[in-house]
Amino acid sequence: MSQFIIEAVYFLTALLFIYGLKRMASPVTARSGILIAGIGMVLAVLAAFLYGFDVREAAQEHLTMNVALVLIALGLGLGWAWYSGKKVAMTDMPQMVALYNGMGGGAAAAIAATELFSGNAQSHGVVVSILAVLGGLIGAVALSGSLIAWAKLDGRMNGVIRLPAQQLINAVLFLGSLALGAYIVVTGLNGVISFPMIALFFILALVLGVLLTTPIGGADMPVVISLYNAFTGLAVAFEGFVLQNPAMIIAGTVVGSAGTLLTLMMAKAMNRPVSNVIFSQFGGSDDDGGEIEGSMKSADASDAAIAMYYASKVIIVPGYGLAVAQAQHKLYEFVKLLQKQGVDVAFAIHPVAGRMPGHMNVLLAEAGVPYDIIHDLEDINEDFPQADVAIVLGANDVVNPAARHRKSSPIYGMPILNVDMARQAYVVKRGQGKGYSGVENELFFAENTSMVYGDAQKVMVQMIEAVKSLG
Ligand code: NDP
Repeated sequence: MSQFIIEAVYFLTALLFIYGLKRMASPVTARSGILIAGIGMVLAVLAAFLYGFDVREAAQEHLTMNVALVLIALGLGLGWAWYSGKKVAMTDMPQMVALYNGMGGGAAAAIAATELFSGNAQSHGVVVSILAVLGGLIGAVALSGSLIAWAKLDGRMNGVIRLPAQQLINAVLFLGSLALGAYIVVTGLNGVISFPMIALFFILALVLGVLLTTPIGGADMPVVISLYNAFTGLAVAFEGFVLQNPAMIIAGTVVGSAGTLLTLMMAKAMNRPVSNVIFSQFGGSDDDGGEIEGSMKSADASDAAIAMYYASKVIIVPGYGLAVAQAQHKLYEFVKLLQKQGVDVAFAIHPVAGRMPGHMNVLLAEAGVPYDIIHDLEDINEDFPQADVAIVLGANDVVNPAARHRKSSPIYGMPILNVDMARQAYVVKRGQGKGYSGVENELFFAENTSMVYGDAQKVMVQMIEAVKSLG
């Protein structure tokens, strides 16, 4: 196959990736965006396959064996991805993303290893050698780090594991792997390929990924995954240069920049610098909210349901607790009953509600809630004063008014949903437990707030019954 056709296919691939990514920006077009980017990926794999066996001299040796190995790898990968993609539950999506992300980093590291062990990268000069080493380092960190993130999100590894002098150990590992990388590049240029040094380099990078991730708490994992996603993109782009593969360079750069932007946006929505997440502290303030004036009042699920039934405008704020309780289907059943009664119902989504970006949107989409009643923070925040009732389901930090005025609070400055400004607020949660940040929530003590204690799903069942008994 001519080089020209391969290059043209790579160009088309790049366009499909970028157009697909653009369509993923809205839930209405996201499905087709994924399909378009997927077609791009199939073309990229085909072109890489043809390029490898048509153009690259190294691949011509043992051609049949190489083709067979690639086909087996493709078959295994496709089969596994198809099966796991079909059976994964919506709530397990963060784990799956972590795992696939790790695979991407691992693949980049594997390419680096092949090119460095064979001396191929070194024979192409200093720039290619440096890119191979950097891609290998970043890819290996993304692989082992993502696997730890997966284990934490999947509940296979609980709590944070912090070593004494953790930061010092990490710094030594990082500088050690950089020094080894420099050694590999310099000696490689003189024709020396040191197997033990290259192996040690990858081992250090893998250990670094593990130790960077073990001290980080479960709720910060989405930020970490997003960061490793950016790492994977960067590693793939570097290895794309090494292999002279334009599709890898473009896909890697797109993933790298999208991952970086997402990481920064999530950190901003939590009002924390990324370094604060990576070095595993929440906020850098011990203020737990202090003594709050007022008291928490409780209400029955049926009273809250009836108040909403006779309201004209209701805003629903979902949070992590809704996902834990798997209450999205019952919630939508309840919403439909309210809508039938003529109540104007809207959902308000905070950018970091839940435990992964878009967690709440995915959860509500799974239950069939139409997109046009789901609103982002900046679109709905001004509507709260007009709402007769705002109901919070298993969310906490993202509705704490202390973020607006309490300067010493670790969540100070984080944008919050203005639930406290609604005429009446109800908060559904199981008990008096605090949110992820460990801060007491001022909303719960407000004059116009009542607490409805219980598991979100059970509360929704009671609310449906209460409303049905009226009709
Ligand atoms: P929070 O973790 O702050 O609060 C969740 C609340 O749900 C808890 O107060 C808990 O109270 C309640 N809850 C738990 N289980 C149930 C249940 N079965 N039924 C009813 N309620 C339940 O969640 P938010 O969504 O408000 O906030 C997200 C937090 O996660 C923020 O601090 C954010 O910074 C952080 N975060 C989010 C990221 C993202 O990408 N989305 C990334 C990183 C961090 P109780 O125990 O009393 O029931």
